[in-house]
Amino acid sequence: MDLLKTLVDKGLRRELPTRDEALAVLATSDEELLDVVAAAGRVRRQWFGRRVKLNYLVNLKSGLCPEDCSYCSQRLGSKAEILKYTWLKPDEASQAAAAGVAGGAKRVCLVASGRGPTDRDVDRVSQTIAAIKEQNEGVEVCACLGLLSDGQATRLREAGADAYNHNLNTSEATYGAITSTHTYADRVETVQQAQAAGMSACSGLIAGMGESDADLIDVVFSLRELNPDSVPVNFLIPFEGTPLAKEWNLTPQRCLRILAMTRFVCPDVEVRLAGGREVHLRSMQPLALHLVNSIFLGDYLTSEGQAGQVDLAMIADAGFEVEGADTTTLPQHRADALAAAGGHGPLTGHDAPAAGSCGSHGGGGCGPCGDDTVRDGVAGDLAKDPQPATAVAAAAPSRPSHAGPVAVRRRGAGTDLPPNA
Ligand code: SF4
Repeated sequence: MDLLKTLVDKGLRRELPTRDEALAVLATSDEELLDVVAAAGRVRRQWFGRRVKLNYLVNLKSGLCPEDCSYCSQRLGSKAEILKYTWLKPDEASQAAAAGVAGGAKRVCLVASGRGPTDRDVDRVSQTIAAIKEQNEGVEVCACLGLLSDGQATRLREAGADAYNHNLNTSEATYGAITSTHTYADRVETVQQAQAAGMSACSGLIAGMGESDADLIDVVFSLRELNPDSVPVNFLIPFEGTPLAKEWNLTPQRCLRILAMTRFVCPDVEVRLAGGREVHLRSMQPLALHLVNSIFLGDYLTSEGQAGQVDLAMIADAGFEVEGADTTTLPQHRADALAAAGGHGPLTGHDAPAAGSCGSHGGGGCGPCGDDTVRDGVAGDLAKDPQPATAVAAAAPSRPSHAGPVAVRRRGAGTDLPPNA
C-alpha cells in the first residue's frame, strides 16, 4: 500500500503526514488492519524499540468536582457510585505510589479532581512529591491537577514534578459539547504553562465520545503542534450515571486504527494506551503494544483495570519488555530539547538510548482519561495470585460492541477491597 509506505517513511523522518493521509488510516478496511499495525509498528520500534513504559495512577482526591465534563464519573451531578474522598496525605499517597513502583512503574501520576488547584493544594502536592521521591528513588512524578493559575506550574516544577498532564480530550470544534465549565483554550494554556515551567508536557485525547474522524485528526494534529512529550490515548469508558453512558462507538479495530494514526502523527512521542483499553480492545490489547510504547499498570481513577500480572504477562508474551528505570524513555533529541527547556534532562535514565531506537482519563477524570481509583496497598500484590479481572475486564471478552453502561467497582483507598495492580 503506497499510503503505508509513505507514512512509514515520514514517521522515520519525524515528518508530519497530511490530514488526508491521517484520515486514510482511519478509513482502512479490516482486511488492511494488520498491514496498518505493522507499518505503525515500524515507526514505534524506530523510536522506542520493544520497550513498554509502565505508569501508575494515584488519585489524590476523588469525586465532588464542580466541572461538568460529560465523560467523567467525578463530574458535577455524576450519579456514578465512585469513591469520593478529599486529599490523601503525603504518606498515604507515597505508599500507594510505592505499590506501583514495586510493580515496575517508572512514572507515578498524581491526579486530583477539580477545576484546578488552590495555592494550598499546590503546597500539599509539593509535600506529596517530596515524600514519593524520598521513598522511591528515581521515580518520575507527573502531576495532574486541572487548570493551573499563574506561578503554580513553576512551584510544582520546583517541588520536583517532572511532568504535568492536562488532556485536550477532543477537537476544539466539539469541545463545547463535552464540557461547558471551561474551554479548550483554557486547556491549551495550562499545557503551555507546564512547558514554560520546564515540565515535560503530557496531553492526550479521549476517543469514542461520538466524534467524527475529522475531529480525531483535529485533536491529534493539535497535540502535535502543542508538542507534548507524551500523548495518552483514552477510549471512553461509558460510566453509568454520566451523560455519555450510552456511547458505545468503538470496536477493537477502530481503536487500533486510532492508535496507529496517532503514532504516525506523533512518531517520536511517548504514546500511551490509557483508560478503556480493557473495555474496547479486549483480546486485541497485545496488538496495541506494536503501536504504543507506554501503558498504565493497574487500576484507573474510578474503575478497575486488568490485573497487573496479566499486563506483565501480556507484554512478555507479545515479545516486548518492560522499560527499566535506568533507560531514557524519550528519544535523545526529545530528551535534549526537554533539558534545554529547563527540564531535569533525560527523565529517569542514565544511558542515552541508541540512535533511532530509544526510547494518562477513558471516562475517569482529570488525568489519563480512564478514571482510575487509587490503589493503595498494592505493593506486593504482583507476588500474589492475580486478582480476578475487574468488573470491566471480566465482562470484556463477551461484551458486544454496543453494551450497557459500565458499573463502577470500587477498590483501593477507602475500601476493604484489594487493589489489583
Ligand atoms: S475531568 Fe477533571 S475537571 Fe472534568 S469533571 Fe472530571 S475531575 Fe472535574
